[in-house]
Amino acid sequence: MARTILHVDLDSFFCSVEEILQPSLRGQAFVVAGRPEHRGVVASASYPARRHGIHSAMPTARALRLLPDLVVVPPRHGTYGDFSRKVMDLLREAAPRVEPISVDEAFLDASDDPRGGEAAASALQREIRHRFQLPSSWGVASTKLVAKIATNVGKPNGLIVVPAGQEASFLAPLPVGMLWGVGPKTQAALLEIGVRTVGDLARLPEAALRATFGPHGPELASRALGRDDSPVDDSQDPRSISSERTFSRDVDDEGVLRAELRRMAEELGERARQDGWAGWTVRLKLRWPDFRTQTRQVRLDQPTDQDGEIFGAAWNLFGTEWSPGRPVRLIGVGLADLTPPARQLSLFDRSWQQDQGLLRAVDEIRRRFGPEAVRRASEISPRKKPGDASGEE
Ligand SMILES: [Mg+2]
Repeated sequence: MARTILHVDLDSFFCSVEEILQPSLRGQAFVVAGRPEHRGVVASASYPARRHGIHSAMPTARALRLLPDLVVVPPRHGTYGDFSRKVMDLLREAAPRVEPISVDEAFLDASDDPRGGEAAASALQREIRHRFQLPSSWGVASTKLVAKIATNVGKPNGLIVVPAGQEASFLAPLPVGMLWGVGPKTQAALLEIGVRTVGDLARLPEAALRATFGPHGPELASRALGRDDSPVDDSQDPRSISSERTFSRDVDDEGVLRAELRRMAEELGERARQDGWAGWTVRLKLRWPDFRTQTRQVRLDQPTDQDGEIFGAAWNLFGTEWSPGRPVRLIGVGLADLTPPARQLSLFDRSWQQDQGLLRAVDEIRRRFGPEAVRRASEISPRKKPGDASGEE
């Protein structure tokens, strides 16, 4: 029997949240974005801004050139995380299996819903709007692949149902770039053999596909027909949080890099505690002046939401990758494999408990007085070398 898969994507999510918090933004062309003088990029663009060609991942400076009156709102990830968690909780109540794929996107398996996919999606769309004032778009289909594409076709405020058996005819007129796994490179290669739409791809003889894409070819063709057996997978929560900074000028000063890592670890710790998560894995991302990106990660002995532990792990990773004087273009830290914090407290682990209380108080002060209100003594003490982080805090 055909499955019923629902896909939901909140429409320009960060902007929608900002409109709730600042109603004067409604109907305006604005972006949630990093500052242009810091080489910031657009995280989310309101629909009026999109009409001027502005979209996410675009440098903020370029967006401002397209529209000098554009309002730039700095991101507040903790708040977006709160909204996201509430929406995901609502979805988890609605379907037996929910797979979040980002902060504002999820698959639901609604095969056993007696109302049918369209009614289930429509009820959830109304409820998300009613409870959280958030607009969302929905796709309903027999596979994850087609449901996700249906959502994209219907945006914003869409609800598109692709009945079982009509997957291939639904996909046929769409640009081939809308398929999973068809990036700009594949798209260019396809264009060279005359393939513009998904339908063109589906009609291509297997020999031509193999000649261009090798063993990957037949898989592409089957995708073009909407075939996709992958289940809605709720076994692992793929959520992770991260923070990164692109410097306006490449930085080779160890003290500056260390302070930046420290600041990002604090931001992640605060977000994790606010959202009730702890992470098993700490990731470090570095981009060099030649735009090569390097990531390193470490799995911890137990999940953490503690600034000092996140920083310590990131600093150790940094020490293995960086040598003094080497300029850095971008630095980032992530906390992944998030789980609800379930740390076993031994009788002798009091220091951690105290630290937890202290961190909550620090978060509260930061919320009330801004992030600059609390600086640690270690940040104004003499510099330490990479690898020296253990034993801090
Ligand atoms: Mg979205």
